[in-house]
Amino acid sequence: MKTCLVVDDSKVIRKVARHILETLDFTVAEACDGREALDACLASPPDVILLDWNMPVMSGMDFLRALREAPIASRPKVVFCTTENGMAYIRAAIEAGADEYVMKPFDRDTLESKLQIVGMA
Ligand SMILES: [Mg+2]
Repeated sequence: MKTCLVVDDSKVIRKVARHILETLDFTVAEACDGREALDACLASPPDVILLDWNMPVMSGMDFLRALREAPIASRPKVVFCTTENGMAYIRAAIEAGADEYVMKPFDRDTLESKLQIVGMA
């Protein structure tokens, strides 16, 4: 089974994402900010990360920058989640190392298609 780390400060979003991902046969772990996510990646990198943009402690953007420099053997794919539909945010995330993005709120079909794009579903 593939592993997905869901990184979001919203417990509701994490719960919704976990449910969808489990129906897509992923093993799911959760982190509530970028710092927790970085610690999780250093301990055991997941196959793919679903990453929120706005979070306390460490934002999605700061996490992407830290992940790029982190000493981890296998680099997870990153699907960046945002409610901002401005292309500037999306471009910045892709430049910082995100592989794909998804707009919140997302449904199962949308998330599955994004995971397919990054080769994970
Ligand atoms: Mg957030």
